[in-house]
Amino acid sequence: MDRLGGTWVYDPRVESDPLGLDPDREVVHGSLYPSLRTNIPRQLLGFSDYPFGSRKNGDLRIFPGHQEMLNFLNEFAEEFGLVELIRFNTEVVRVERVGSRIDEWVVESRTGHKYCEEIFDAVVVCNGHHTQPRLAHFRGIEKWGGDRFIVTTIEDLNNSRIRSGAKRN
Ligand SMILES: Cc1cc2nc3c(=O)[nH]c(=O)nc-3n(C[C@H](O)[C@H](O)[C@H](O)COP(=O)(O)OP(=O)(O)OC[C@H]3O[C@@H](n4cnc5c(N)ncnc54)[C@H](O)[C@@H]3O)c2cc1C
Repeated sequence: MDRLGGTWVYDPRVESDPLGLDPDREVVHGSLYPSLRTNIPRQLLGFSDYPFGSRKNGDLRIFPGHQEMLNFLNEFAEEFGLVELIRFNTEVVRVERVGSRIDEWVVESRTGHKYCEEIFDAVVVCNGHHTQPRLAHFRGIEKWGGDRFIVTTIEDLNNSRIRSGAKRN
């Protein structure tokens, strides 16, 4: 990622496999659709010392749209000087304890082709959990003749168009 926001960075690209099963597919982290609004009211989305109450863009609705959510996260990070602490376009590829110590961790990361190993006192894993789809398997599904897709491959729930060209049953 070259910017902060994780899930809340809208990406119009869609994965080629509507079920996300193909291991060779290009993984698209973003799974927002254009009309998505949060399912939590803005009064609860904010932090106690940084409320989500500004109602930017003249949108008075209780449940903000995804762009407003992203703006909120960006403003929060700016306000508290977090942006300069983030190393963008860098993937953590390995985290390991040093021996049996709990206060020393090796973190290996990759920026482009450059690998780097660093030691930290503690590690918090915040890699998100919505990139790899998890499909429910239930008896009789193989008999279903209709289309199947995961909801994040839908372009817009309002018109229920599947974002991906491919369909599978
Ligand atoms: C479509 C959708 C709608 C949602 N709506 C709501 C809502 O309305 N209200 C609500 O409270 N929650 C909602 N959620 C849940 C949402 O996941 C959380 O609100 C929150 O954004 C999760 O933040 P996160 O930091 O855990 O993960 P993410 O936002 O996914 O961020 C993880 C970050 O880690 C990076 N990363 C992953 N692996 C590595 C690695 N190896 N090295 C370096 N970086 C890595 C990713 O690129 C990403 O930037 C929604 C989720 C989705 C998918």
